[in-house]
Amino acid sequence: MTGVESGDGAGGPPPEPEPRPCPHCGVPVTAVIQLVPTAHHAYPCGCVVPADLLE
Ligand SMILES: [Zn+2]
Repeated sequence: MTGVESGDGAGGPPPEPEPRPCPHCGVPVTAVIQLVPTAHHAYPCGCVVPADLLE
């Protein structure tokens, strides 16, 4: 077996992750960062959000 990877399928473009609106202020969240061990913050707005907001 050689390296079998994607490339034998329909050949469509990979799905791009869509930013989800912040549940607090509505700004599209592009990332969730953890500044302190007890909370996660949305980027770029900075609101406290669940760690799995983008999952
Ligand atoms: Zn926000």
